[in-house]
Amino acid sequence: METRMSYLVLFKLVRKTRLSIGSLGRISFKRGYYLYVGSAPAKWISKRIERHATKEKKLRWHIDYFSNNRFVSFLDYKITEFKECSLARKLNKRFTYIASFGSSDCNCPSHLFYSNSSKLSSLENLTFLENKESAKGQKAFKRRSKELESYFMSKEKEFEALCIRCGSCCGAYDGDPCLHLKKDKDNKYYCRIYPQRFGERKTISGDDFECVPIREILNDSWIGDYLCAYKNLHRRKLFNV
Ligand code: SF4
Ligand code: SF4
Repeated sequence: METRMSYLVLFKLVRKTRLSIGSLGRISFKRGYYLYVGSAPAKWISKRIERHATKEKKLRWHIDYFSNNRFVSFLDYKITEFKECSLARKLNKRFTYIASFGSSDCNCPSHLFYSNSSKLSSLENLTFLENKESAKGQKAFKRRSKELESYFMSKEKEFEALCIRCGSCCGAYDGDPCLHLKKDKDNKYYCRIYPQRFGERKTISGDDFECVPIREILNDSWIGDYLCAYKNLHRRKLFNV
């Protein structure tokens, strides 16, 4: 019999917005954190989670209409031991839900949950998700989670290797770059806070802006964007992120 695995995905919506969610119609979403519960056959789980992190895709499920919005960022995911609906019930006790979202095929009130608490900025903070299974079960889950982690890390490395460090997305050519943008001895730009770059930042002149993943701004324009390797591939539809 096909083994299914359930998972949680954490998204952040950076501003209040109204979205059309397929058959559910238009729904208002508050700024904050959203937890989505889903499941997939074990052999497809990596692809499924990757799909949630991808912007451009054929819109099929409710969550696709939400996750492809430009103000929504994919933050984290976790594979869990719980069955999909029992996980949704656990979350239902703790968080506000978006009625009928992702639950057309079951009796759950929803599979999408909301919180504006920064405690939800990491799935590590959801201690009730800690594995209560047998030692054998825990080992299998840990192994699977590690495999997934290294799969996503290798995908991320491939993705990051495309960057030619032109610096244009950080304002290198607009006259007021980000404070953290620097040049190395080969005249290539780099970010001196790269691992912690996302969030509120300042330009050299003191203007505020938000540093966001390049995936989120591929439909935008900025000075020097003709240099950006991602944008060029995106324009030529050579990849969808
Ligand atoms: S913080 Fe963001 S905008 Fe600033 S240099 Fe780093 S990556 Fe670029
Ligand atoms: S504009 Fe694109 S290629 Fe240039 S530094 Fe930014 S992400 Fe890298």
